[in-house]
Amino acid sequence: MEITIIAETQENNLHSVTRQLVGAATSLGASPTILCANGIGADEAAGISGVGKVVSVNGDCFTTFDGGAWATAFDAAAGEGVIMGAATAQGRDVVSRIAARRGIPVVQDVVALSEGIKMTHPIYSGKAMQDVTVAGDCAMTLRANIFSAADDGGSAESSIVQQSGDVKIAVQEAIAKASERLDVTDADIIISGGRGMGGPENFDKLYSIADGLGAAVGASRAAVDAWDEIPHNMQVGQTGKTVNPSLYIAVGISGAIQHLAGMRTSKFIVAINKDPEAPIFKIADYGIVSTWEEALPVLASEIANLQ
Ligand SMILES: Cc1cc2nc3c(=O)[nH]c(=O)nc-3n(C[C@H](O)[C@H](O)[C@H](O)COP(=O)(O)OP(=O)(O)OC[C@H]3O[C@@H](n4cnc5c(N)ncnc54)[C@H](O)[C@@H]3O)c2cc1C
Repeated sequence: MEITIIAETQENNLHSVTRQLVGAATSLGASPTILCANGIGADEAAGISGVGKVVSVNGDCFTTFDGGAWATAFDAAAGEGVIMGAATAQGRDVVSRIAARRGIPVVQDVVALSEGIKMTHPIYSGKAMQDVTVAGDCAMTLRANIFSAADDGGSAESSIVQQSGDVKIAVQEAIAKASERLDVTDADIIISGGRGMGGPENFDKLYSIADGLGAAVGASRAAVDAWDEIPHNMQVGQTGKTVNPSLYIAVGISGAIQHLAGMRTSKFIVAINKDPEAPIFKIADYGIVSTWEEALPVLASEIANLQ
């Protein structure tokens, strides 16, 4: 089976989820080809065990993100078979556009995969799981931190192709609001704040706990929408990022279905909310009915005692 992986990158490196895509592809018996935009991460990709080929797809369109242009360029460089990407905002966009160009089915947010090709993915904002079996070519995005990452040990051949994508949107300026901190999709522990935090300045309390735990800080959409200081790349949920950490601590977050869609598969969920009726408690493994003003200092001092 031929599988082409669209490499997920972060700044100028390969994102760790790309290794998980390789792990999933090799579990189906494939030696995947990895496509790297402008060669970003190509050297690392060639060294991943199980990779068959690495192709650097070079083009001006990769300077800034334009889903249509990227899909055009990747589509021209990809072979037949399965197109695989990460279930990130960018990955979902590009992979679904390639599927539309080819007239093949696309399944987003796959959490289980087996030969056949059989895929399991969430529907209705994660309230149910659907099994989909596809015969023939298809496209899919895989959720991060579900599939085992492939190790080093490969020596795939590399090549370069020049492609142009028709950039439909001219981006005048990209303002990087992203923080230097650990991204929520990479973190094994996440502490997220919602509108109940009262103001962006109170997120400092979450950052200091995150530093003690080696955690990332996330946010609800209400917090992102309300406060400029809380960037969209921190948003967890249906229209934000999907996360799957070992521990998710929700502080001042009510637990709307759209928020749960992004974090309900976390292994352990702790909720701090002053309202005992808050829906977040229905899915929390541990619930603390309290204001964050009371609960966070206690949590911080317990964490300090552990160190
Ligand atoms: C199409 C669509 C997509 C959406 N996508 C997303 C998404 O991706 N992510 C997302 O998060 N939302 C999303 N939403 C919005 C979602 O419906 C909710 O509005 C949002 O999640 C609410 O955020 P919140 O829980 O922070 O705020 P609120 O609902 O206002 O809840 C605040 C909570 O804080 C508690 N609280 C208040 N003060 C304190 C205190 N001092 N200490 C402790 N607790 C306190 C309150 O009891 C309350 O439960 C989407 C909505 C739509 C329609």
